[in-house]
Amino acid sequence: MKITELYQIFLEHPEVSTDTRKINPNCLFFALKGPNFNGNEFANQALEKGAAYAVIDEAKFKVSDKYILVDSVLETLQKLATYHRNQCSAKIISLTGSNGKTTTKELIFSVLSKKYNSIATQGNLNNHIGVPLTLLSIKSDTEMAVVEMGANHQKEIAFLSSIAQPDFGYITNFGKAHLEGFGGVEGVIKGKSELYDFLIAHDKYVFMNADDPIQLEKLGTYVKKIGYSASNPQYYSIQLKESSPFVILEVEKTRISTQLTGAYNFTNCCAAIVMGKYFNVPLEDIKSALEGYSPENNRSQIIEKGRIKIILDAYNANPTSMEMAIRNFDNMKTPDSYLILGDMFELGDVSAEEHQSIADLTKTLGFTNVLLVGNHFYGVQTPFLKFQTFEEIKNYLESHPVEKGNMLIKGSRGMALERILDYLG
Ligand code: ATP
Ligand code: MG
Repeated sequence: MKITELYQIFLEHPEVSTDTRKINPNCLFFALKGPNFNGNEFANQALEKGAAYAVIDEAKFKVSDKYILVDSVLETLQKLATYHRNQCSAKIISLTGSNGKTTTKELIFSVLSKKYNSIATQGNLNNHIGVPLTLLSIKSDTEMAVVEMGANHQKEIAFLSSIAQPDFGYITNFGKAHLEGFGGVEGVIKGKSELYDFLIAHDKYVFMNADDPIQLEKLGTYVKKIGYSASNPQYYSIQLKESSPFVILEVEKTRISTQLTGAYNFTNCCAAIVMGKYFNVPLEDIKSALEGYSPENNRSQIIEKGRIKIILDAYNANPTSMEMAIRNFDNMKTPDSYLILGDMFELGDVSAEEHQSIADLTKTLGFTNVLLVGNHFYGVQTPFLKFQTFEEIKNYLESHPVEKGNMLIKGSRGMALERILDYLG
């Protein structure tokens, strides 16, 4: 079936599903394949649950005219998304970067929603499936679409950009994340820059952090750039006033007190502010959007349990975000402060040295109560307590209850360190 024909069907059934557990009546089901499942096998279930049509790519499953047979379901989903994107008048703002994409995306969405009919990536749906799904959620009256793009290897952002064809873009930062797939920090810079490369090649505007030397170098001579800076008067000025426990910033003599912790959240806020300004959202609305936003899903949340004040940052971790979180927590250090740190994944060859340098940093900064957990941290040289498994640290916390103090909990998603909360307070 041609994309134009499928598009007519989509217009009548604009709700798209790829998951038989979430079928709404009249939706269009796309039977994707994964390493452990074949969506074609579930197409019939999707139709039984009320889907209007099922798009499949294996002929043997087509048993009625409710099945739309295509060569590749995934490619069809991606092409349909691009086709739809080109029919819509919404402006597409894409963002990528090593850290802070989802937080920044949420902040931009909150700010732009004050003035415009906006949509944004749901949760963290930022890959070759999530980006098309986000584009397909654009409605005819949508004015702004904020699209998060994630990647762990080269050419991925270029590919996602070709699907979304953004009008504007922003890179949060270049850090030590997914080093394994990108091939080191240089590889990260190259891979993430594919978004700016796409925008430059298409003569579009880019947003930038003018205090980031890598962004400055990349965009130095490019004219269509909109930057913010804490120090360079050539760019829109935003100042960080306080970062712990919460980020407070000042822009045009207006003080904005956020519910976000950590200096690293400053640039996330700046991106949302500079975009709000560019798109003429009144400053008082930008302020109320930022002040009203509080993080979810274990992303730098502040939680109190009894007399323990916890920064729960168990959503993910890599050497850059780990170091930033520890340095930020250093400002809240008291004699009874605790650091509970879990393994950082996907670091490849440099894993041992990066874990060692985090362990060393905690010592250099003078922390005394440091608990390290996971196979990688178990291998470091340190005077502090190490636990190979979650079970072991759990047993330790049960026999040595923490009574009070400030605590930072941070580790990669796979460590699921939010489970620590059950053994505190
Ligand atoms: P993912 O790659 O999983 O999509 P993400 O880039 O969307 O991650 P967020 O989910 O916004 O990132 O934030 C995850 C964690 O990264 C936060 O809890 C915080 O520890 C850290 N972080 C957030 N913003 C920054 C930043 N600007 N610089 C460094 N670290 C950050
Ligand atoms: Mg994300």
